[in-house]
Amino acid sequence: MKNIHLLGATGSIGTQVLEVIKSLDGFSVKSISFGKNIPKGKEIIENFNPEFVCVLEKEDAENLQKHYPHIKFSYGEKGLVEAATYGDESGVLVNAVVGMVGLKPTIAAINKGRNILLANKETLVVGGEIINRLVKEKNVKLIPIDSEHSAIMQCLDGRSKEDISKIIITASGGSFRDKSRKELENVTVENALAHPNWNMGAKITIDSATMVNKGLEVIEAHYLFDIPYDKIETIIHYESIIHSLVEFKDRSVIAQLGVPDMRIPIQYALTYPNTMENNISKSLDFNIMNKLTFKKMDFDRFPCLRYAYEAGIQGGVMPTVYNTSNEEAVRLFLEKKISFLDIEKIIFEMMGRIENISNPTLDDIFQISKLVKDIISAERK
Ligand code: NDP
Ligand code: MG
Repeated sequence: MKNIHLLGATGSIGTQVLEVIKSLDGFSVKSISFGKNIPKGKEIIENFNPEFVCVLEKEDAENLQKHYPHIKFSYGEKGLVEAATYGDESGVLVNAVVGMVGLKPTIAAINKGRNILLANKETLVVGGEIINRLVKEKNVKLIPIDSEHSAIMQCLDGRSKEDISKIIITASGGSFRDKSRKELENVTVENALAHPNWNMGAKITIDSATMVNKGLEVIEAHYLFDIPYDKIETIIHYESIIHSLVEFKDRSVIAQLGVPDMRIPIQYALTYPNTMENNISKSLDFNIMNKLTFKKMDFDRFPCLRYAYEAGIQGGVMPTVYNTSNEEAVRLFLEKKISFLDIEKIIFEMMGRIENISNPTLDDIFQISKLVKDIISAERK
């Protein structure tokens, strides 16, 4: 039995992780976390019977404790670390929270010697260097759930890093891929949340429309596969069937394909290095699919992707500045306090304003993140 510790259980990825677990034999959910979705959280508790549950608010933890006296409850950031490290080191942490709040629990789980299945890309973007150092030191596995990175991992299987000529990450283009920059001036939150290919959480859906998601994924790929930025390319691929590609130095290209269904990379990560029958996802039917479409990435149309490369190449705390200014800007956009195009303006401004720190400590990362948040909120008053 593989013990699972799942952060972000009520989210888009979290619920699909639970669906996959339910469809397979051999997994037991020991601890979970969720935020404010108490009805969904209760449903999960009753279906999966975890021993430990963390929620966002103290009051929710106290109320739930009365309902379920046999379960241990905790809350807040401290609770996330407790959920991630609950039990013995044999289990795996599936990190599916959204945002860099996932960083501390990931580090705590690695320190415990626990393997990590990572959906929460923000964590690797801000803490990539620290995480990679720890992963080596503790000899744990860090397996991506993000579909592009799962694809790259599969393309690289059995190959040596020296043989890679480049990685090509595909991007659907998000909800506004066919709109001009002029047309972006008046788009609404509702427009932005309508993604053509994937049904995901609100933040990543906005990140797809701004192309920040691809920017975060470029930095994620750099840290996961230790590939320099000049060997990481992106391309728009409308159908989201090819999840990414790797070109080797002999010019042979390997791609990973599948229907756009996150349960496939989730199952790959959960069962790695083994392969189990998938009982819930559709096959890719080449009789129905009659074309695969590609379009060159336009960095003027999607400046946030250019900023991500710049942040990644500068390194230090710049990926944190990029990530936190985006997290804050997306929150403000979802609250309808800023326009869609303000997101890229805020990221650009903050990257120009904050002085970089090389080889940052965890404290540096959190301090810079707080500074960015303070500046953004002061300027909105
Ligand atoms: P969702 O918004 O759907 O879910 C986020 C989860 O985290 C929910 O369980 C939510 O709880 C919880 N949560 C939110 N904020 C906090 C917080 N401050 N503290 C503790 N828990 C919190 O996100 P997604 O599932 O879409 O995305 C999760 C991660 O996976 C992101 O990093 C995203 O980029 C990545 N990812 C997502 C993909 C997708 O298809 N959705 C694809 C690839 C990567 P609650 O809802 O109960 O408040
Ligand atoms: Mg992705």
